[in-house]
Amino acid sequence: MTTIRLQNTKTRKREDFVPIDPANVRMYLCGPTVYDRAHLGNSRNVLLFDVLFRLMRHVYGTDHVTYVRNITDVEDKINLRAAETGREIGDITAETIGWYHDDMDALGALRPTHEPRATDFIAQMVTMIADLIDKGHAYPAEGHVLFAVESYADYGKLSGRSIDDMIAGARVEVAPYKRNPMDFVLWKPSGDGQPGWDSPWGYGRPGWHIECSAMSQALLGESFDIHGGGVDLQFPHHENEIAQSCCANPEGDFARYWVHNEMLQVEGKKMSKSLGNFFTIRDLLDQGIPGEVIRFVMLGTHYGKTMDWTDKRRGEADATLRNWYGILHGHGFGPKLIAALQAEGQWDADPEFLGVLANDLNTPGALARLHVLSKGKTPAALARFAHGLDMLGLVADWSAIPMFDGGEAGPDVAPAIAAHVDALLADRAKARAAKDWTRADEVRDILNAAGVQVTDVGGQATWVPGPDFDASTLVDIYWQPFFESWCAKSR
Ligand code: AMP
Ligand code: ZN
Repeated sequence: MTTIRLQNTKTRKREDFVPIDPANVRMYLCGPTVYDRAHLGNSRNVLLFDVLFRLMRHVYGTDHVTYVRNITDVEDKINLRAAETGREIGDITAETIGWYHDDMDALGALRPTHEPRATDFIAQMVTMIADLIDKGHAYPAEGHVLFAVESYADYGKLSGRSIDDMIAGARVEVAPYKRNPMDFVLWKPSGDGQPGWDSPWGYGRPGWHIECSAMSQALLGESFDIHGGGVDLQFPHHENEIAQSCCANPEGDFARYWVHNEMLQVEGKKMSKSLGNFFTIRDLLDQGIPGEVIRFVMLGTHYGKTMDWTDKRRGEADATLRNWYGILHGHGFGPKLIAALQAEGQWDADPEFLGVLANDLNTPGALARLHVLSKGKTPAALARFAHGLDMLGLVADWSAIPMFDGGEAGPDVAPAIAAHVDALLADRAKARAAKDWTRADEVRDILNAAGVQVTDVGGQATWVPGPDFDASTLVDIYWQPFFESWCAKSR
C-alpha cells in the first residue's frame, strides 16, 4: 500500500500517515463563513483537501474516506451584511452557499461527504459548553460563557506560542467579564434582531470556534485523522478548537495530523477581503478562464509555500492544458476508452506519480511527472498520464474530451486522429492536382513531424503510424473546436 506522508503542524515533522481506521479515514476542513463570494485565496484550502481526499480515496478506497467541511452560517459578518442590505440572513446564507458550490465545482473540487451547517448543531454546541463548565474549563459571566485558557496546559502548543506571546501578538478583546484577556467566547448573548437560541445561559448564539469542535465530534468522533485549514487559522481558531475538544474529551486525541496551507498573496501581501486586494473565483471564471486552468495554477505551487496568482502562470497553465487535452483527444480518451482500459487492467496510477503526490502532496512534482507521461504514443502508454490527470481533478468531464471520437477503444491510432490524417492526405492530393506545391510540402512536413509513414501506390496514398508516431503535433492543429467548447463550458 502507498505510504502517504504529511507535514504535521502538531509535531513540526513530516510523518507517515497511519489512519486510526483504514476502513474509515476521517478528515475535517474549516469551511466558509457564508456572507459573500469566495476570493481566490479561499480556494487554496479547498483544493489542498480535495487533492488529499482524492489521494485517500485512491489509497484506502472510495467508500473508506469521510470528509467533513462545515458551513459557518451564524457569525457577526453575516449579521452585518443582513443589516447593511436589509435582507434576511437565511437568504444571504442560502445564496452564498449556492455560489460557493458553483465556484468550487468549477474548480473540480469534489463535494465533501458531509457539509454540516452550524445552525443545525446548536444543541451539540450547548451540550459541549455545559460539559466544559462542569469540568472546570469554562465559566459563565454576564450572559457569556468563556473558555478559561489557563485551565488547559497545552494551550498554544500547536502554533508554538506562550500565552504571553499570544496576548502581545493578538488583537485580544479585553472585557471586564474575562478572567484572563486570552479567554475566548463559547457563547454570547443575542439582542433583538440578532439570531439566537435559548440556552442555560440565556438567549444567545455560539462563538465561532465551538462549532468545529461540536460538529467534528458529532460526525467524525472524539479522535479522527486529519484537520486543516489555512495557516492563518492556526491561532486562534485551531488552538481554541483543540482546547475545547481535548478538554471536553480528555480520552480522545481530537485530530492526529494537522495540515495547513500557506497564503495566496498579491504583491507580497495576503489576499484578503479586509485589504481589498482580492478577486473572486467568479471574476476569473467570468473572464473566460476555465476552472481547470485556475486549478492547474493553484496546484502548481506546493500548499506549504506562499504563492502569487500571475497572468504568466495562467497563460502557461492554459497552454499546457490545451496540449494535454489535445493529446487525450487525439488518442480517443473518453469514458469508453477508459472503460476498455479498466477492463484490461490498464487504468491505474503511475507509481512514480503516486509516490511524488503521496510525499506531502507534492502537486508541482506530480504535474512535472505528468509532463513526462504525456509523451506516450499509444492509448495504453498514455493511460497513466490520463489517470494522473484524473487523480488531480484536472478533467472535469471525460465525455467532453472525445468530441470527434466514434467512441471505439484503441487500435493504436484513435479514429479521430486517423480521420485527421486521411483529411490531410486528401488535402495534399488536392494541392498536388492544383500544382500548389507550397501547400503540398506543408502537409508533407506536418505528416513527417508526426511520424506518419505515407506510401504512394498508383496515385493512391496509404499510411501507417511510424515508430516515432506522435499524435500530439497533429492534434495541436486539430483540436481547437474541442478547446473552444471546453472554454464555453465555464462561461
Ligand atoms: P476569511 O475569508 O479570511 O474568513 O478566510 C476563510 C478561509 O480562507 C480560511 O480558511 C483562511 O485560511 C482561508 N484564506 C483566507 N485568505 C486566504 C489567502 N489569501 N490564501 C489562502 N487561504 C486564505
Ligand atoms: Zn474550524
